[in-house]
Amino acid sequence: MLNNDCVFCKIIRGEIPSSKVYEDDVMLVFKDIEPKAKVHLLAVPKDHFKLLSEADDGRAAALSHMLSVIPSVAAENGCAGGYRLIINQGDDAGQTVFHLHIHILGGEQLPW
Ligand code: 5GP
Ligand code: ZN
Repeated sequence: MLNNDCVFCKIIRGEIPSSKVYEDDVMLVFKDIEPKAKVHLLAVPKDHFKLLSEADDGRAAALSHMLSVIPSVAAENGCAGGYRLIINQGDDAGQTVFHLHIHILGGEQLPW
């Protein structure tokens, strides 16, 4: 289920342009608009929810699928040397988009 007020739902629906690098029935991967590393991708489920704590069995299956696809997507998009995954959860983590997303950072030696 998508959300009318969510920027990532709008990207999934094609209402906001994005640089897509991978898509299937469950997920979309696109380039972050303000990259924090040489390669900075965002992997999102095609289901609007904010937190891992909201993941029922279907959402957990989608997240598992995403984790199984990310290694090849990362390798094909400049992260053959390695990458870091980050999932910000809530205010203290600085989550700014309330549609669960996995940051994929790489393409260089990360500074921390
Ligand atoms: P968060 O801080 O919620 O973990 O990360 C949200 C990320 O979404 C940020 O890195 C931000 O640059 C990215 N972002 C926000 N709006 C857009 C957008 O319209 N397009 C794209 N491609 N990325 C976005
Ligand atoms: Zn959304």
